[in-house]
Amino acid sequence: MTQQHLRIATPQHQAMVEITHEVQRAVTQLRLRNGVIHLFTRHTTCALCINENADPHVVTDLLRRLEALIPWHDPRDRHAEGNSAAHLRTILVGTSESVPVADGRLQLGTWQGIYLCEFDGPRTREVVVDVLGAEKAVKSG
Ligand code: ZN
Repeated sequence: MTQQHLRIATPQHQAMVEITHEVQRAVTQLRLRNGVIHLFTRHTTCALCINENADPHVVTDLLRRLEALIPWHDPRDRHAEGNSAAHLRTILVGTSESVPVADGRLQLGTWQGIYLCEFDGPRTREVVVDVLGAEKAVKSG
């Protein structure tokens, strides 16, 4: 097995949900020892990013600044669903991330966490976790 799918329920319309523990659990379940884990979200209105998980004000500041940069309402938008801002925020932040793994642990920096960025929730989102170029742990016993 080299792939897992994570299902993440987002709590509100705009949110950054930390998924570091879910991704680490997937690395463990995939029995990846050394390699790279690739994350991909299969949606057009949510994104993935890696950023600070120490001060909770960082994520609220980021969401506020994204709203300032790409306001939700623009009377010139023609997309019938009314969520063109969510599509644009998704393009800006991106739908994939890669993280190195050593000795079975995500090699994130001290202040880094992995986030699912919800731009048109709340919804249940799916993140595909793939192993790239892997050395897997040998099953003991
Ligand atoms: Zn749309």
